[in-house]
Amino acid sequence: ASFGFRDVDVAEKQEMVDAVFHNVARRYDLMNDVMSGGMHRLWKDAFVSRLAPPRKGPRPFRVIDVAGGTGDIAFRIHERSGGHAVPTVVDINASMLAVGRERADKRGIAGIDFVEGNAEALPFPDQSFDAYTIAFGIRNVPRIDQALSEAFRVLRPGGRFLCLEFSAVDLPGLDKAYDLFSFKVIPLMGKVVARDEESYRYLVESIRRFPNQERFAQMIRDAGFARVGFTNLTAGVAAIHVGVKI
Ligand code: SAM
Repeated sequence: ASFGFRDVDVAEKQEMVDAVFHNVARRYDLMNDVMSGGMHRLWKDAFVSRLAPPRKGPRPFRVIDVAGGTGDIAFRIHERSGGHAVPTVVDINASMLAVGRERADKRGIAGIDFVEGNAEALPFPDQSFDAYTIAFGIRNVPRIDQALSEAFRVLRPGGRFLCLEFSAVDLPGLDKAYDLFSFKVIPLMGKVVARDEESYRYLVESIRRFPNQERFAQMIRDAGFARVGFTNLTAGVAAIHVGVKI
């Protein structure tokens, strides 16, 4: 019976997340800039630098960008690799993917696949990809351990896992300012700019509930990854976690 309750919770959480991103899809990119003061662009650049997708090789470099939303990571991967990498964007939300496809068309980028799918049950066979990326996505997934084991499954041996996510601030002083910003300023900006205070309140709460750097690193190890490590960005406001499937 308890298993049944757990299932309801999971379904409810996913439903709520889906409603949030459906509501914000059209304003999502603007809101990211407004709320992070453009910082998310630097974090995403650092993330894709860390991936360092190859610019040449005997065959295209296959990357799955999970919870890829409107394509920010996929576009960067495409550009940095000079088109040698072929990103597949997977997202559970058709509204976010629709914005992503439009952006790709506008930029004249062909060769990025946008696929509707769930991080907890990826619609691809085992060992399909050279790298797995997920940016500001995993904290929205109800069963993180399930998403991590799917990441492990779809990577080829030697394939790399990279995750960019909000994390725990580790600078005294900054943490207080960050609290004020999160709990007061963000919902207010959500209200004014996106006319959607509730969605942004949810986002802030989801950041606070997410495991800190060390705990999340351990979850990645538990999923089977080796050489797991993390790098803080902006004193831990965000962090990049990496691992390898060997
Ligand atoms: N990666 C993009 C970026 O960095 O701009 C989008 C991040 S956005 C904050 C989170 C995304 O996670 C949303 O597009 C949402 O639809 C997606 N998402 C939530 N739950 C998911 C799930 N179970 N499987 C796949 N994607 C999911």
